[in-house]
Amino acid sequence: MQSVLYSIKMRAAQGGAHEQGGKHISGAERIVSSQELFPALEQLVQRAQQHERGNPDFINISLALISERDIKKISSLPVYSIMNREKAKNHNVAREVLGRTGIKPEVVEVALHYLSHGLAEEGRNMRGAMVIDINSGQRLEPDLSRGVRVTGMDYAPEIKPALAEQLDQFGINNAHAREALCLASKVASVEGIVAELCWSDDPSYTTGYVAAAQMGYIRLEHMKQLGSEQGGRVFFIDPGIARAEKVIAELENQPCLINRLGPVYPPISWDDFIRQVLRKE
Ligand code: AMP
Repeated sequence: MQSVLYSIKMRAAQGGAHEQGGKHISGAERIVSSQELFPALEQLVQRAQQHERGNPDFINISLALISERDIKKISSLPVYSIMNREKAKNHNVAREVLGRTGIKPEVVEVALHYLSHGLAEEGRNMRGAMVIDINSGQRLEPDLSRGVRVTGMDYAPEIKPALAEQLDQFGINNAHAREALCLASKVASVEGIVAELCWSDDPSYTTGYVAAAQMGYIRLEHMKQLGSEQGGRVFFIDPGIARAEKVIAELENQPCLINRLGPVYPPISWDDFIRQVLRKE
């Protein structure tokens, strides 16, 4: 018999609900069994209340029952960590990796500019990600101030200990890294997605990544100034492979569980990454 699971979504804002212009504070996604439901709800409420971006006065938690048969099962992306603390160099790494996925340099610059200056109107941050056409550089999200919010993803409970152990070896076993890898793995698995670029808008978390199905999840330790609230996510899509509406619908609605772990590699210098992984002379 197929079991039933719960998809939980949490979003918190300050100064009213998101749809009334409140500032986005925190959001999270879980897919859990009925035994895990109450502890997961408690964790999510605590998380909303204890976020460094501020105290929310709006917390929305929604639950949907999903059948296991409707869940897409995927593997997590291979994880690489580039050893470098220089922001400008890390931006260049992102340029190089995105270039290799076929995205034009001018389109990459558009994305870097948005992430560095705020994605929504008046330089405000978004709750979701920006979606960019790799050919024209145009944004494709139906709501430009909200962006596209990827929902319905988690790790299968049986792989969580192994994931924690692998990330622990390299000192990167934190909620930010685990959740970002989960999201990036789901995003990369969607047909039509070419790559993703992200760094957090949390002021104390300066790490970001660039990810693509063909390359993996490439962690970049320092992508912005410490203390900055500028950050966000960009999904690059090729509308020649899949229509934007279809890609966005899958990102937003398809429940997805990671039930297999990709490798987590030891930190590597950019030069060695180019030689050993990208195999460029
Ligand atoms: P975080 O890594 O959680 O600090 O998020 C950084 C930025 O990524 C946020 O400001 C949003 O713009 C975007 N983001 C966060 N969660 C999601 C999500 N589930 N789907 C799409 N974009 C997201």
